[in-house]
Amino acid sequence: MSRVLIIGAGGVGNVVAFKCAMAPEIFSDIWLASRTLSKVEKIAADIKEKTGRTVKTAKVDADNVTDLVKLIREVQPKLVINVALPYQDLTIMDACLETGVHYLDTANYEPPDTAKFEYKWQWAYQEKFQKAGLMAVLGCGFDPGVTNIFTAHMQKVHFDSIETLDILDANGGDHGYHFATNFNPEINIREITAAARHYENGEWKESSALSTHHTFNFDKIGDKEIYLMYHEELESLAKNIKGMKRARFWMTFSEKYLTHLRVLENVGMTSIEPINFEGKQIVPLQFLKAVLPDPASLGPRTKGKTNIGCVVHGTKNGKKKTMYIYQICDHEECWKEVRSQAISYTTGVPAVTGAMMMLQGHWKGAGVFNVEQLDPTPFLNVLGAQGLPWQEVELPEVPAVLK
Ligand code: NDP
Repeated sequence: MSRVLIIGAGGVGNVVAFKCAMAPEIFSDIWLASRTLSKVEKIAADIKEKTGRTVKTAKVDADNVTDLVKLIREVQPKLVINVALPYQDLTIMDACLETGVHYLDTANYEPPDTAKFEYKWQWAYQEKFQKAGLMAVLGCGFDPGVTNIFTAHMQKVHFDSIETLDILDANGGDHGYHFATNFNPEINIREITAAARHYENGEWKESSALSTHHTFNFDKIGDKEIYLMYHEELESLAKNIKGMKRARFWMTFSEKYLTHLRVLENVGMTSIEPINFEGKQIVPLQFLKAVLPDPASLGPRTKGKTNIGCVVHGTKNGKKKTMYIYQICDHEECWKEVRSQAISYTTGVPAVTGAMMMLQGHWKGAGVFNVEQLDPTPFLNVLGAQGLPWQEVELPEVPAVLK
């Protein structure tokens, strides 16, 4: 029985609040706070209507530590679940330290003015959290999150040593718009337009954005073009999975999506450099975000499935072995259950499952943790019941396009 404070009322915040409300035996008291009170209140009203539970609401500026500390003192939660934007990670961590509250998020800190996905800023909090006897769990969405936990499970159960890891993220969903992003457009486009980077033999190898691609056949989705990208979980996995020789991340994009993206990039609309427009400084990417469909609005329109997982190759008992572990999620089912599309759902459910692990004492410790450092078994034991059933198969060899 625990009180939680959820910060952020976007697509993911909606799922987190819903799923906490659906587990009253663990989340006895739920608070949802964000910058725009009307969004928080809308989610609370939807939850009341669908589950009968009351979610308490508050307005907070999560860029402001004083504002956060005041709210956390008033609410007195056991845990803060941060599903605002990556820009707020450090202020929320500071406020948790000041108030003595545990912390969990789904995306690593990024400075607003440079598109850099690195854990260094949050890893620098290690000593502070250790000294305070508090736990900060980083990156507990799907990717990062479940993909790290899948890899930890492979390490624990199926392999003596992992040689290669390929994370494959496919979205076979269609929302009917010419162009829209499935989560925050600013974060999404910053991620996709960044140079591709993968880990190989102790080094990071860089190639130009979206230049390496292959066709991969996904269960329940079919053939999709997968593009090599950098993704933040590679950084912590390369550090925490000892002896791994190569780690890569692949994501699917349709030709239509990429054509729109190329045009927007070519005309400067994806830039994060401020420009002067009619006497006012504006950031083109933020303006683009304002004209694109709100990701939260895609839910009722999106049909199809996502399939995200890991192909892992290594050795067990002296023999070569390859495993594929993945999760399939249906956009329309998610909408029916919590009024969300599958991208927010596959992020929010792991965040709530991670919160359960912390509140029930399956995950404990003082310091800053990436999820692969924690026991994968209790998490994977309940992930299916929480809404994300997963499966694993042994493959005869690494699929040819991933060799
Ligand atoms: P949205 O943009 O839909 O929601 C973000 C929410 O945070 C909004 O409600 C926004 O408020 C609020 N917010 C932003 N700034 C502040 C602030 N200064 N103070 C208070 N609230 C603030 O994003 P998503 O829900 O799609 O994503 C949430 C998080 O999940 C992001 O960090 C994203 O990177 C991460 N994510 C992780 C994934 C994973 O698999 N690990 C996958 C997808 C997303 P307002 O409503 O006023 O704009």
